[in-house]
Amino acid sequence: MTYLDYAATAPLVEPARTAWLEASGVIGNASSVHTDGRAARALLDDAREEIASLLGREAAEIVFTSGGTEADNLALSSGGVIVTTGIEHPAISEAAKLRGTVRVAPTTADGVVDVDELVRLSEGADLVSVMAANNETGIIQPLAEIADRVSGAALHTDAVQATGWIEIPDSYAFSVSGHKLGGPVGIGLLVASRTYPLAMIEGGGGQERKVRSGTLNVAGACALAAALAHRLEIRDELAARLSSWRDELVAAAQSLGGRQSGGDVDRLPHIAHLVFDGANPEAMIVGLDMAGIAASSGSACSAGVFRPSHVLEAMGDPGAGSALRFSLGEGTTRDDIDRVLSALPSVVGMGR
Ligand code: PLP
Repeated sequence: MTYLDYAATAPLVEPARTAWLEASGVIGNASSVHTDGRAARALLDDAREEIASLLGREAAEIVFTSGGTEADNLALSSGGVIVTTGIEHPAISEAAKLRGTVRVAPTTADGVVDVDELVRLSEGADLVSVMAANNETGIIQPLAEIADRVSGAALHTDAVQATGWIEIPDSYAFSVSGHKLGGPVGIGLLVASRTYPLAMIEGGGGQERKVRSGTLNVAGACALAAALAHRLEIRDELAARLSSWRDELVAAAQSLGGRQSGGDVDRLPHIAHLVFDGANPEAMIVGLDMAGIAASSGSACSAGVFRPSHVLEAMGDPGAGSALRFSLGEGTTRDDIDRVLSALPSVVGMGR
């Protein structure tokens, strides 16, 4: 099988598997005071220190969570007036509706948030949350410019797709998810300074900074640290390889009458988001699956029902119901790309 759905879940990388197995052999609960508990705590502390240093932050800023969704919910936990965009993952857009009064900044046809409008909407707001890079299009958002121009509101970014590819400016709190990086499912974290506003969203022991409760996932944290270290080590070589394959996929789509979503803007290296106007994405995904290729429509698919992409809709793209997303990663090979290139003409034909 050619797996090109890394943006949904990336396969576990070897260093993360090894770290996870080793840490799983340690018995104690990291909150217990006995020797076993302290051994577990030491592993957790090491993972926290390592992650903080890899991300260029303080260990005290790391709040471990069960994944990106929980990190996003925690980031918005203090509520109030929340300014966000129309291209966020539901972990932000739905959490914002639950927690506060929401103002949604428009997105340009290029796929980038309209910063002038965002700045205007931020007046008097408590929190601004703009994703670092979009999970469907891969388009990178102008976080530095937003930080320069917004004042008086706390800043958060959903960096679930961006972590390990791009740096996040210091002024932001940000969300990270293990399984997008080659770590396990079920571990993530929020990076938030001591002054970032946080409230407890689920009652419990408050193990993480008195705001996040539940027995700590020590093995998950160790595996996430290993996955992140590994990614940063290979990042430049990997980004060069994947972006050139991504460009080949875009060129192939163009030769078949398709196009890449958005404009000529900065993108993550590993996502090819292709629009074939008028084509049925379900038929294309099934066609790819029959050719042994796992890809995604890039839009929410629940209970087997394909819906138009809210991201493309927010960009005003008429092809919101006709997109394919190929997301590549460390295990992707030249053969995988060749397999897609040879299957694509008939697959697109099936969609039309
Ligand atoms: N945010 C973005 C941008 C995502 O792509 C995802 C997962 O697809 C999430 C949040 C949710 O992360 P998790 O699956 O770790 O809860």
